[in-house]
Amino acid sequence: MEGAVDGARAAHLASPAVQTFSGSCHCGRVRFEVDADLANVTVCNCSMCTRTAYVHLIVPPERFRLLAGTGDLALYQFGTKTAQHRFCRHCGVSGFYVPRSHPDHIDVNVRCLDGVDVSALRPTRFDGRHWEASIGGLEV
Ligand SMILES: [Zn+2]
Repeated sequence: MEGAVDGARAAHLASPAVQTFSGSCHCGRVRFEVDADLANVTVCNCSMCTRTAYVHLIVPPERFRLLAGTGDLALYQFGTKTAQHRFCRHCGVSGFYVPRSHPDHIDVNVRCLDGVDVSALRPTRFDGRHWEASIGGLEV
């Protein structure tokens, strides 16, 4: 099982799968672009992600561009207050945020990207309910 996962990861690293995707909140005030490979997305079972159904795509900041909506973003924080949960204050949708696991990265919600069939993706599962025990196994 472990070997199969490693093989799949190696294959995707060797492929030129990085594409540029456009994304937005529901009302369109917040718009962004991300350069990413959708082979490496994650779902999480923590109290937040269970409710939002976030599909995570964590990228370094140089792969993310906020095109519009800086002033439309609201902030929600809880727990350790490391993560910066950003959402559009008009429509309530979160297209991206700063994750607790990688506070120097951007975590994009794949569900907010244009033209992506989320049901066709094979997300890795992160056990966010047991965050401290799981974080060592999370690869980006
Ligand atoms: Zn909005």
